[in-house]
Amino acid sequence: MKHDNKYDFTIVGAGLSGLTLGIELLRQNYKVLMLEKSKNQQRPICGEYLTPMGVQIVNDLHLEKHLTPFEVLNGMILVSPSGKRVETFFPEGRKGISLDRKKFQEDLKNVFELYGGVILFNIEINSIQYAQDQCTLKTTQGEYKTQWLIGADGRQSQTAKLSHLPSELPKQKKVALHCYLRPKNKLPRLGQMHILPKGQYIGINPINEEEVNFSLVTDYSQLKKFSSAKDLLNFWIHHQSNLSNQFDLITDQEIKTISPITRSAKRIAGPRVALIGDASGFIDPLTGEGMTTALATAQMLSKEIKKNKNIQEAFYAYEKRRKQEFIQKEFFNHILQNIIQFKNVCEVIALCLESSFKLRSIFIGVIGNIYGPKEALKKLFLRTQS
Ligand SMILES: Cc1cc2nc3c(=O)[nH]c(=O)nc-3n(C[C@H](O)[C@H](O)[C@H](O)COP(=O)(O)OP(=O)(O)OC[C@H]3O[C@@H](n4cnc5c(N)ncnc54)[C@H](O)[C@@H]3O)c2cc1C
Repeated sequence: MKHDNKYDFTIVGAGLSGLTLGIELLRQNYKVLMLEKSKNQQRPICGEYLTPMGVQIVNDLHLEKHLTPFEVLNGMILVSPSGKRVETFFPEGRKGISLDRKKFQEDLKNVFELYGGVILFNIEINSIQYAQDQCTLKTTQGEYKTQWLIGADGRQSQTAKLSHLPSELPKQKKVALHCYLRPKNKLPRLGQMHILPKGQYIGINPINEEEVNFSLVTDYSQLKKFSSAKDLLNFWIHHQSNLSNQFDLITDQEIKTISPITRSAKRIAGPRVALIGDASGFIDPLTGEGMTTALATAQMLSKEIKKNKNIQEAFYAYEKRRKQEFIQKEFFNHILQNIIQFKNVCEVIALCLESSFKLRSIFIGVIGNIYGPKEALKKLFLRTQS
């Protein structure tokens, strides 16, 4: 099949970042094509917790009505390796959301098509030829020509590889095990983060009364000690009373395994190409903000394109801004990643959080991206002064 159709933008990947940018570019009257390798919209392996800042971005993009089917999250329960349980609530009345990503992304796909976007499923790029005035994409379903190319194709971005945008391989071999469980009893409208020994952790998100999103992040060496992913999950459900009082042991629920769970991108813009979402870098699911970053990078790039008549310059301006605006939080997240390797430090932090409501609010405010780390330090300092 040969297409003579020329597009202003072609977006590779119909995940959250791709759909969001697609909608924004259509709103700016560009002609947009989206290529997705899956046969249809999938429910990706994800904790499905949208941070308060993510909710804010959805509002800013006037897409908030698509969040109404989902339940809110008021905060987060943090559990230390020894089982100390600290309840936190997002400050300033802010809320997160428990999404069903398949439903949410199907809605966004409908909006994309309503604005005149073309989306093709079951298609993959084999090669990209860059010329001075356009790119030619050779795909499993024929050839496409586009002025500008966007890689929104996740942590293993093929767009980045084919465009020779450099990235670094993850240092640690981490793996995520994911399933949906039915809770024994109705759970509070709070997410849960259980820190386990050796830097492992479990994220829990009560999607609704019947379905809880449950994921364990560990490294391969831990997984290899068990005969199956189910045995490893059941080990923790059995041994942690904070889990066994909420869930029965897993019997026949489907468990999915995913790796890598990080991506370190060195360049996210090049001639005629830019990367957004996970393709532009993803530290780890610990703080549950990958979707927020997906939305934020899509919004940031669309704003640069709107502001800058020269799209190539907009791509480079976006690359610079993404680095500047995320640097603080990425640094904070790296520190957090290291802290959870040390059981005793986690216990001390749990004690501090337990003893101070203000500290809890500020901490969860940073996790939920309500406060930047610098702003949080300022708040902490000012409070201590008063
Ligand atoms: C275990 C785990 C738990 C997580 N929990 C949370 C959480 O609770 N909250 C949160 O905000 N984030 C969470 N995340 C992160 C979140 O899932 C991602 O950050 C987010 O999905 C990124 O969106 P994206 O659009 O950039 O990429 P993706 O959602 O990965 O979408 C990429 C799309 O591109 C398609 N694609 C890939 N390759 C190609 C190709 N070659 N050609 C065409 N299409 C292609 C894929 O099929 C997919 O549809 C979690 C991640 C993991 C691993």
